[in-house]
Amino acid sequence: MKLTRRQMLKLSGASLGGLALGSPLSSFGSSFNSKETVPSEKNSLFDSLPVFPLGEKLDPNEMRITFLGTSCIPRLSQECNSIFVEVGSGDQFVFDCGTGVAAKYNAMGIRMSKMNKIFLTHLHGDHTSDLTHIYCFGPAEDRKEPMYIWGPRNSDFTYKDLDGNVRGPYQDGTRAFCERFRDMNRWHSESFSFGSTSYPGYPLPSEIKTQWGLHDIPVQVSDDDPDDGFAIFPIELDWTLSGKSPMDNVAYNNPSTRVKITHFPAIHCRRGSISYKLEWNGLSMVFSGDTKPNYDMIANGGGVDVLIHEMVMPAYVWALKNSGLSPEDPDFIKAYNYAMQVQNSSHTPQGAFGYLLSQMTPPPRLAVATHFQAADDTIASAMQSVRNHYPVGEITFASDLMVINVSATKIIQRRAVVSSFAFYPVSPNLPTVNPPKYWKYDTEHPTEKIPDPYAQIITTEQVPAIDPITKNVNYREDGY
Ligand SMILES: [Zn+2]
Ligand SMILES: [Zn+2]
Repeated sequence: MKLTRRQMLKLSGASLGGLALGSPLSSFGSSFNSKETVPSEKNSLFDSLPVFPLGEKLDPNEMRITFLGTSCIPRLSQECNSIFVEVGSGDQFVFDCGTGVAAKYNAMGIRMSKMNKIFLTHLHGDHTSDLTHIYCFGPAEDRKEPMYIWGPRNSDFTYKDLDGNVRGPYQDGTRAFCERFRDMNRWHSESFSFGSTSYPGYPLPSEIKTQWGLHDIPVQVSDDDPDDGFAIFPIELDWTLSGKSPMDNVAYNNPSTRVKITHFPAIHCRRGSISYKLEWNGLSMVFSGDTKPNYDMIANGGGVDVLIHEMVMPAYVWALKNSGLSPEDPDFIKAYNYAMQVQNSSHTPQGAFGYLLSQMTPPPRLAVATHFQAADDTIASAMQSVRNHYPVGEITFASDLMVINVSATKIIQRRAVVSSFAFYPVSPNLPTVNPPKYWKYDTEHPTEKIPDPYAQIITTEQVPAIDPITKNVNYREDGY
């Protein structure tokens, strides 16, 4: 639907369907005198949650879902998308890894070694951007083992426009993404390879295949040793599979931790997006990624314990907030029409989210709207839209650092209170490590290979360096 300027001006004067606004629409984007009184600047729902104590042990019968990023635009209250799912049998997974979430993972005290299994719903930047940090710095911390990245295979899409021009098909699947991502980070990975990046006894890819119930033996994308912390193993999934044919849509099936993860098609922007379902110990979770409302979601979401589904605010409100324009501005129509195109080709409007929930039998024990800029004004109006179609049933709105504990008897929502000044969490019990790639023999123990942090720099007159030791300007032993 495309709106004319005339229709737009009419709409701007009309009711916005219960949108609870504390200031005139035209003031969005203008300066606020008091954050306390502006509903777009606070999230009372999140603020009212009880506090999750950092470091709380997970009960063996519980699943815990932590939201690290819950928006599609990076904002300090909500970075882009990522959730971390842990189960009481000792297994854990990252779903999507969008812009800005590395700081949130760090603040939550989630160690790098827990972030080796990444499940991508699709390859948009708001779902993948912070992989760079997590990949690059994992081996310097305690992930001295490969990174495994599940995600859709190539879209296999060829577009021919009406003039006969052809686009594609491109190598746009998860393997191609990982190959280029590996190359892109070569300078980083070499420079950080004076420290050890692997440990003895790490399972072979054939053993990983069996342990995780993969379809094939995984193959790393570059020349890394298959046990190396900088090795990347893409595990491509056929995005066309819906699970209607037996077992073919299983992405992960670990008999030891009893976690099974399946996937099904999402409809989002371009061919090749998927949603995931995790099942464990009689509990289940669906993570939609980005998608238009669809029937596969109804089939897979019915009866789950926690349904985490994307939702977008009305295109009109999005255009107001995101463009900073007033409805009277001639360019506002363009912003609105673009927002409508994005919504209609890619996302789930509020009312449609309610409709989806109403079609699930039984409905989820808890439905969580995410990818949604959650504040008092947006939540108030969205709740009305959802409730128009889904009058009862537990619903909440995700915000960063929300923690949901799920057991057979109860689902608890809390908010973590974290430090803005966190360092990396301590890495306990590191295994014995292999020698690093850049090494030398220890002068005192001539058979022992030790790190050579100077191997990759020039220390001659070409690039004169000041040596703090000979100049006696090194740090003192007491640290000052
Ligand atoms: Zn997105
Ligand atoms: Zn997307």
